[in-house]
Parts: sequence; structure tokens; C-alpha cells
Amino acid sequence: MSAPIDVQAAVVGAGITGLAAAYELSKGTRSLLLIESRDRVGGNIRTERVDGFLIDAGPDSFVRTKPEATELCRELGLGDRLVTTQARSVFIAHRGRLVAMPAGMALAVPTRLGPILRTPLLGLGGKLRLFGDLWRRSSPPSDDETIGDFVARHFGAEAAERLAGPLLSGIYAGDVTALSIQATFPQLVELERRHKSLIFGLFAAQRARAEGEPQQALPSSRLGQLFALLGWLRRASRHAPSPFYSLRDGMQSLVDALAARLPEGAIRLGVPVTGLEAGGAGRRWTLRLKDGTCVTTDRVVLALPAHGAARLVPDPILSELLSGIVYLSTATVFVGLDRAEVQHPLKGVGFMVPHGQGRLLAATWVSSKWAGRAGEGTALVRAFIGGAREADLVDRSSDDELVALTFDELTRWMGPLGEPRLARVYRYPSSNPQPLVGHLARMERIRTRLENLEGIYLAGAAYEGVGIPDCVRQGQRAARAALGLPIGSP
Ligand SMILES: Cc1cc2nc3c(=O)[nH]c(=O)nc-3n(C[C@H](O)[C@H](O)[C@H](O)COP(=O)(O)OP(=O)(O)OC[C@H]3O[C@@H](n4cnc5c(N)ncnc54)[C@H](O)[C@@H]3O)c2cc1C
Repeated sequence: MSAPIDVQAAVVGAGITGLAAAYELSKGTRSLLLIESRDRVGGNIRTERVDGFLIDAGPDSFVRTKPEATELCRELGLGDRLVTTQARSVFIAHRGRLVAMPAGMALAVPTRLGPILRTPLLGLGGKLRLFGDLWRRSSPPSDDETIGDFVARHFGAEAAERLAGPLLSGIYAGDVTALSIQATFPQLVELERRHKSLIFGLFAAQRARAEGEPQQALPSSRLGQLFALLGWLRRASRHAPSPFYSLRDGMQSLVDALAARLPEGAIRLGVPVTGLEAGGAGRRWTLRLKDGTCVTTDRVVLALPAHGAARLVPDPILSELLSGIVYLSTATVFVGLDRAEVQHPLKGVGFMVPHGQGRLLAATWVSSKWAGRAGEGTALVRAFIGGAREADLVDRSSDDELVALTFDELTRWMGPLGEPRLARVYRYPSSNPQPLVGHLARMERIRTRLENLEGIYLAGAAYEGVGIPDCVRQGQRAARAALGLPIGSP
């Protein structure tokens, strides 16, 4: 058996979280190893060029309202490759057709009156109930609650099911009747705590941001506030920039740039870590790799899915807490089309399919959303399937079955599409963590158990947010904690 490799710090898992952690660690350590079971870096992030199409198989963008991913891109010299989109309209599948999401929805909270009054997505009762958020006062439960219950308390069941549910559960591919509002959208919980009404809360927040501008201070009288609010709800539409960024050459450029900044020989691909034990060669921890290699180190960042970390942590209670984080399987199915054969205008970002309306979770008109994704005369469409909608669909179906299902469903919503030029399936088995009700309490217990394992850090989509900026932030924070540096604001 070869001698152990001794390093100051090790990171297990080379998805965006592990890469961000390793890059941060590389600024303060002399020796570092990033170990990845697959033969490539990126985890869920993967870009491929196939037959003139540029395919982001997993994530295709990230929000810029959380700055960590944007700042990291700039630090890595990718600032000039950040691209945005002009496509803004999102459609909702409703009773057999695609209906435009009313303009002015911000985090599922309506901020404009006219589009809500005009939308065919809600009946008159549903519309009135939605604005009931301004005067109805339902007390939040003392503990956590589901996204579904939270939005239904504010906006009524119809708006929760048809508008807010699909908007808020999309990134999790999850079930709004199970996902935790506190873990997924703490900003909405905070709005409720401060203002009771979410609509009024967004109005007040917007006023506060615009403070200093003439006539923007919130009137002190109730009547004055009501008139100001009505004026705000009736304001004309304004073309706000998209809150998303992508990268000109696809999301892979981010993970490739991170990998390129790591010291020579710091990445070990194609070999899973199979064990983690205390002690070894004067260090705190020994990692065992499947090929028989041992790595000794004082600091280990586990940037794996929680079920993977559960198999490694040397604490049965912590292991059980981690295994209890539920994951769902999804797949993305890409279809390349001849533009002339597609009758649908493809104007917008794509559409979401609420529960009970169809088998897809959502579809993106990729080539309308981002430039450079499809060649002249062609179009690229992506469907998102599985998740809570049909939990075992991806695991039990062949690629051909998933393509056939996707094509049928896309045709049903978008009309004739012609013969596909390309069809690709990308599977994400047990890759979508679900922060269910009680997730924050579970995280507290996880943190407490971790205190007994000095030098071990957990980071990744399972814990404090699934978006790319959340993962970057968690990776950086774990690295800074491992280096004994101040962690910065959460
Ligand atoms: C289909 C899909 C679309 C998405 N779209 C978006 C989007 O548009 N925008 C957005 O912000 N977010 C999106 N997300 C969420 C985001 O992509 C993920 O939350 C994020 O990529 C997770 O990164 P991670 O590094 O924590 O985990 P992962 O990407 O899962 O990386 C973990 C790595 O650990 C490795 N590993 C596992 N076990 C071991 C072991 N024992 N030893 C060594 N290595 C191991 C794995 O091979 C993997 O490479 C999407 C997710 C999916 C699945």
C-alpha cells in the first residue's frame, strides 16, 4: 500500500460548492486536495456542444440578487462573459393552454393590480381573495409551515395553486405542501413578521429603497398609506432587467475557471472517498479513497449531497440526521427543432405546469432566453420532468420513453414542432434536496453534532439553499471557517 498523502486541507466533491471551497482554501493553504468520484468537475453543472446546440444540462443561470456567484465570476475574470436575457414573459399551463403569468409578480407576491384583474388564471373570487392579503390577518403558526399553507393564508387556495405554488416550488422540483417556507423563502416570512401583509411589505420595502427621492416617504396616516399603495399598485409597467445571469459559453465556464485556478495536482478525479476516520500520521482525519489511497489532513470540507456525507461522517446520530434530508430525482430533456416547423412564437422564457395540469414540471425556450444556444434556423427547448410530480418517473423510464413523453407534452402545449433534430436526456438521480418543514430545526441539530467533529465542515445544496449563489456562499464559508478566518456576514 502506498504512503498516505498528507495535505493541510481536503475537499470531497467537486460540484460548484466543493470547487468554491477549494478555491477559497487555496488562498490560505500550502497543500490541498479536491477529491471527486466522477471523471469531471462540476457535479450538476455540465455544458455540452452537440450538433450546433449549446446545452446547459443542469443549471443554466443564477440569480444576481444574491451576489456571491456574480462576484466569483468577476474575480475569476469571467465578468465580460456574464450575459443576461431580454426574455421576461413566463407562461402557466392552464386548462389546456399557455396563459401569461400576470406582470409584476415579485417572489409570487402581486405588485400590480391591472395584470391580476385581467388574468384568466384566477376567477373573480380568487382575485378578490388574493388582495385579501392587505386586510385579512391570519396568524402564522408558532413553528414552521409549508410553502402551500403560507401562500394560501395570504392569497387564498386558488392563487396558491395556480400562481405562487409553481413559482416558488420550481427550483426544488418539489411539493409546496411539504417544502418549508422558512428554509426556502425566509424573506417572505420576514415580510410577514414586519408588515403582516406581503403586498404592503413589498410596497414599504420599495419605498424604503427609494427614500431620498422626492415624494417617496411613506405617509404617516392610514388613509395616506392606502392611497399611496393604490397608486403603486396601479403604476404603469416598467421594463426591469432580468434578475438572472448566465455565461456566454455556458455554466461549465464557471467550474472550469475555478478548477484552473487550483494548484497543479490539487484535483483527483474518478475516485470516490469511501471512508473518513479520526487520526492518522499526526493529523486529525484520514480519508480512505476507493483506489486504496489514504489522505491525512486536519480539515475536511464535505461538499457532497447529504446522503453521501451521511455515509462518511463518523457519528451515527449526525449520519441519521443527514440521511433524513429527502432528495428527489429529476431529468432534463432537450429537444432541438427546426424553427420553421415550430408554429409557437417562442416569445418568452418558457412555461410552468402546475400540479394537475400535465406531466412536465416546466419547459424553457432556451434559444429565446439565451443568445448563442442554437444555430441559425433552429430552436432549443428544455423540459424539466420528475421531482415531486412523478417521483419514480426518471428512475423507471428509459431515455426513449422520457423523450417520447416530453415530445408529446411539448406538442400538447406548444402545437406542432416538426421532427426533432436532436433529443438528449440528462438524469439527476437523487440530486434535488428538499428542505421540508422542520429543515431549520434539523440544521440546528446537525450544527450541534458537528461541533464534536473538529475540522469537519459540511457545505452544499442540502443545507442552506440550493441555488448556485447559495452553494458558492456555503463553500466559501466552510473554507474560511477551516482556515480560521472571519466568516463574514451570512
Ligand atoms: C436539473 C437541475 C437544474 C438546476 N437549475 C438551476 C439553475 O438554473 N440555477 C441555480 O441556481 N440552481 C439550479 N439547480 C441547483 C444547483 O444546480 C445545485 O444546487 C448545485 O449545482 C449543487 O452543487 P453542489 O456542489 O452542492 O452538489 P453537486 O453538484 O451534486 O456536487 C457534488 C459532487 O460530489 C461528488 N461526490 C458524491 N459522492 C462522492 C464521494 N463519495 N467521493 C467523492 N465525490 C463524491 C459528486 O460526483 C458531485 O460531483 C439545478 C439543479 C438541477 C438538478
